[in-house]
Amino acid sequence: MADDKVDSLLKEGRVYRPSQETVASTYIQDYETAYRESIQNPEAFWGQAAKELDWFTPWNKVLEWNYPWAKWFVGGTCNMAYNCLDRHVKTWRRHKVAVIWVGEKGEERIFTYAELYRQVCRCANALKSLGLRKGDRVTIYLPKIPEQMVAMLACARLGLIHSVVYSGFSAPALESRIQDAESRLVITADVGYDRGKAIHLKPVVDQAVAHCRTVEHVVVVRREQPGVTLSAPKEIDWEDWLRDQPVACEAEPLDSETPLYILYTSGTTGKPKGVVHVHGGYMVGTYLTTKYVFNLKEDDLYFCVADPGWVTGHSYIVYGPLLNGATILTAEGKPDYPNPGRWWDIIAKYGVTVFYTTPTAIRLLMRYGEDWPKKYDLTSLRVLGSVGEPINPEAWEWFHRVTGGKKPIMDTWWQTETGMILVTPLPSVPLKPGSATRPFLGVEADVVDREGKSLPANAGGFAVVKKPWPAMMRTIYKDPDRYQVYWNTIPNCYTAGDVCRKDKDGYFWFMGRADDVIKVAGNRIGTAEVESALVSHPAVAEAAVIGKPHPTVGESIKAFVILKQGHQESPELIQSLKNHVLTELGKIGVPAEIDIVPSLPKTRSGKIMRRVLKAKELGQDAGDISTLED
Ligand code: ATP
Ligand code: MG
Repeated sequence: MADDKVDSLLKEGRVYRPSQETVASTYIQDYETAYRESIQNPEAFWGQAAKELDWFTPWNKVLEWNYPWAKWFVGGTCNMAYNCLDRHVKTWRRHKVAVIWVGEKGEERIFTYAELYRQVCRCANALKSLGLRKGDRVTIYLPKIPEQMVAMLACARLGLIHSVVYSGFSAPALESRIQDAESRLVITADVGYDRGKAIHLKPVVDQAVAHCRTVEHVVVVRREQPGVTLSAPKEIDWEDWLRDQPVACEAEPLDSETPLYILYTSGTTGKPKGVVHVHGGYMVGTYLTTKYVFNLKEDDLYFCVADPGWVTGHSYIVYGPLLNGATILTAEGKPDYPNPGRWWDIIAKYGVTVFYTTPTAIRLLMRYGEDWPKKYDLTSLRVLGSVGEPINPEAWEWFHRVTGGKKPIMDTWWQTETGMILVTPLPSVPLKPGSATRPFLGVEADVVDREGKSLPANAGGFAVVKKPWPAMMRTIYKDPDRYQVYWNTIPNCYTAGDVCRKDKDGYFWFMGRADDVIKVAGNRIGTAEVESALVSHPAVAEAAVIGKPHPTVGESIKAFVILKQGHQESPELIQSLKNHVLTELGKIGVPAEIDIVPSLPKTRSGKIMRRVLKAKELGQDAGDISTLED
């Protein structure tokens, strides 16, 4: 259908080749050969990867594919928490640092693998003491403190299903997630800290659980003195709960397909979906992607800025890195508090080697200028990462430059539903700023039309995956029909809901969300290209574009722009922005209207919510906005 073609306007030609030294140090030095071999026989490839982990009983079949339902490592038994902890505690790694946690006020808590193991066992025994059994759901509504990770791993150890809800959510949003999961237990804290302010969580939980009949207990981590009052026996203090528990607790051998967690998607495009991931396949997928994408080695210090409330936190703070026996750094708070040097300071102070962040954070830091990163010694960095949105080439260049101009940036494309990174560079692969590069080993991703036919180079279409992969979601909780939609929209493909093009080298360029495509005078334009063109103007920090109904051309482009510090709104500036887009993309991409704004509506994970801008612009109802920040 010609109508599905998405036109690409962006002309981005820069290429960064890895140094010989970088290539020589990587696990996968020749991506082309490794990829070809991996997809000739994906089952053999993933089976081999799974053998690097511990199984209580081996699987008898790698994949059982009953379209669109997949089972991986069929007949095998394993346990995610066992592989994250026991596997290491049995070796010298018991003394290795597993987690360095840095609080907003600079406090520090450090856990070796042995200490994390002890905490998790205590917590697992405490969960048992409440009569929780395999398959029960536990909602974890905690700020970014180590107890969050401990609780997740303790649930995994027993085969309980965790549902982590980001602690920025309001009571109704929390309530609907508890109701949907029918959780028996909620784990929370008295407060989280945000830019020096205490955010009180307990009253939010009180309000949320008031109508949740399934919730039997609420466990509270008390950080403040004097502690909030708890009403026994329903409400329990975390310390009291753990204190007398034994420090050993066998990990439950679980069938590979046992659910590990439910996680509600960001809700950028609509109502959040309860995505279900399982122990076996998810473990293999997150293990291998963490290892290869970041080329993780024994002596790395891995810093991921996500919150475990999002999938990036699940897969790439907690599970993937722990499966690899890595040392993880996690920091509470915002990138610009107490000042915009916050993250650079942490990198310099601890000697971070792998730094995984988001385009939205990079654009925020760009606003404050390059003097901030320049103040710090960032030479320890080895590999950088980006996730969450397309990274504008301008933001990519900035990130690359301020970190020394030589560190490879892994622009990782994936989703809550995919569980693991699917399209990404490896450190040995030549990079093009703004492109997520190529599919990960064993992953058959493509760009197709609505019939599922591969599109020629540079034609924009739908990003899809043609074969199952181990960490894929197994269903949408209590809504299998909704799960099937992902596999039934385009024949024989998993439809991601993003538009994309592949260039002549097979590099993927994500162009935005399919729902946000703008139709101007017969052209269909992805939001990312217009936004990237705007962001490449020296005065622009961030931009979002939407389509507005137009009587003659179908839709016209409206842009919302945040200026960098030191720039003022003026008719000349607006004209200069339009001229700039004209040169970058051509006439078709030029916004008819540009509004200068102080902020943009974002999800709590930092993604621009264009549907909210559009609804507001058109005076319509914005739908589910539970994930909207502020
Ligand atoms: P919802 O599905 O509820 O609307 P969401 O899609 O924002 O929310 P996530 O699963 O957190 O929920 O985000 C996945 C989406 O984020 C992808 O589909 C894509 O649109 C975007 N994304 C993530 N990483 C990248 C990347 N590296 N490049 C381009 N887009 C990305
Ligand atoms: Mg999505």
